[in-house]
Amino acid sequence: MSKVEDVVATARNSFRSGITKPYEFRMHQLKALLQMVDENFNELVEVISNTAKKPKFEVILYELEIVKNDIRHAMHNLKEWMKPTKVEKPLPFILDEVFIYPEPYGVVLIVGTWNYPVMLLLSPMIGAIAAGNCAVLKPSEVSPTVGNLIEKLLPKYLDPACFFVVNGGIPETTQLLEQRFDYILYTGSTSVGKIVQRAASKYLTPVTLELGGKTPVYLDQNADIKLATSRILWGKFVNTGQSCIAPDYVLCTKDVEIKFVEEAKNKIRQWFGHDVKESSNFARIINSSHHKRLTSLLKGANIAVGGSFSTEDCFIEPTIVTDVKPDDSVMQEEIFGPILPVVNVKNALDAINFINDREKPLSLYVFSNEKRIQDLFLENTSSGNLLVNDTMMHFACDSIPFGGIGHSGMGAYHGKFSFDTFSHGKGTVIKKLNKFGELITAARYPPYTESNLNI
Ligand code: NAD
Repeated sequence: MSKVEDVVATARNSFRSGITKPYEFRMHQLKALLQMVDENFNELVEVISNTAKKPKFEVILYELEIVKNDIRHAMHNLKEWMKPTKVEKPLPFILDEVFIYPEPYGVVLIVGTWNYPVMLLLSPMIGAIAAGNCAVLKPSEVSPTVGNLIEKLLPKYLDPACFFVVNGGIPETTQLLEQRFDYILYTGSTSVGKIVQRAASKYLTPVTLELGGKTPVYLDQNADIKLATSRILWGKFVNTGQSCIAPDYVLCTKDVEIKFVEEAKNKIRQWFGHDVKESSNFARIINSSHHKRLTSLLKGANIAVGGSFSTEDCFIEPTIVTDVKPDDSVMQEEIFGPILPVVNVKNALDAINFINDREKPLSLYVFSNEKRIQDLFLENTSSGNLLVNDTMMHFACDSIPFGGIGHSGMGAYHGKFSFDTFSHGKGTVIKKLNKFGELITAARYPPYTESNLNI
């Protein structure tokens, strides 16, 4: 038996033993996970910030604190989430118990990526634990030191017969995908998402695919451009734009673009100083191949802000590109870096058509205080999430589902939605086996007569 087969077999035996189902076990594991993050906080911050080359502030606030909040939220609500949901009873079931029982799927696979290497593994895992599953985590090979640290820490805190970490690259992921899982949550690119779904279909394993794509921003002429620029640039330049929900491009009129570019120059100087390369507040691109991919997008581009880069430390300056045409290379694929193209449109309707001509985005950002404009986008576009007058902040709102649609993914998680993702809602009817109950449904039995239909 290979290591991967052994891991899945052990997890399956553990799940079958029923150990993960009681409330006490789930609560204990969640507490242990919180303890793991707390007791190793500094080491986690150090390793993530070194590997992902990002400021410690970003690791703490946008990764580890999010995980800690998610755990606390799950612990606080676990009892409530685990309760069967009572539902309306149709007349023939009036004497019965009718409810939806959340049952764990079993053994789940969670495949993470490198841009938030701990959060994108542990946040889904919180839902898997809360829902009573065993889980196998596959960290990204692009950030191997983080994966190794999680592999070292997890068995010290969580039940090592129920929760596993498998490190490695494509061969290991491929091997994992050959196994039979009861649920798979994958975070990463759309192209690999398709591979995951194909592999899952062998066993009809349900999947949640948290993918990427080009997230548009519409900046309306009546918006507060100063404030909007801060919020757009913050979303774009956190983690150097290597966030799945970073604004990918801006749609606005030429007039708005001029104001936006001017304001952006001020903001970038204010936030990162005259030489961004020297700023401790600006991350680096994860590796040289992504750096090469990104800098090639700048060839021939009309650079309105920034544009400089250095290969040896994978640095790219915050960059805004204007006079962008829809068939320019920068508009073909998700950018995933600190380059922000501005595409001119005539008005909101023109922007909506532009968005609807392309794959459905993971998120859509609309900047306008006009209800009419907000409603236009709400009702006439389709995206995983919609956020009006800000960027990325909806990720922290755990009372709404976070996820994509179409090429940006399927399914969702966060908060209670994580619990629901990893639970099968078993529709349940419990009848009494007595004569009284027979009165209501007795007409179903043969011999069939006209009078049976009149009931
Ligand atoms: P990646 O290269 O780290 O891959 C992610 C995982 O897929 C890894 O564990 C890797 O081992 C596995 N993998 C890669 N190629 C494979 C193959 N051929 N077969 C099987 N497994 C394979 O990550 P990435 O794809 O570079 O991630 C970036 C993408 O992730 C971007 O598109 C981004 O938008 C998206 N993303 C989405 C979310 C979200 O929540 N929706 C969050 C973060 C990133």
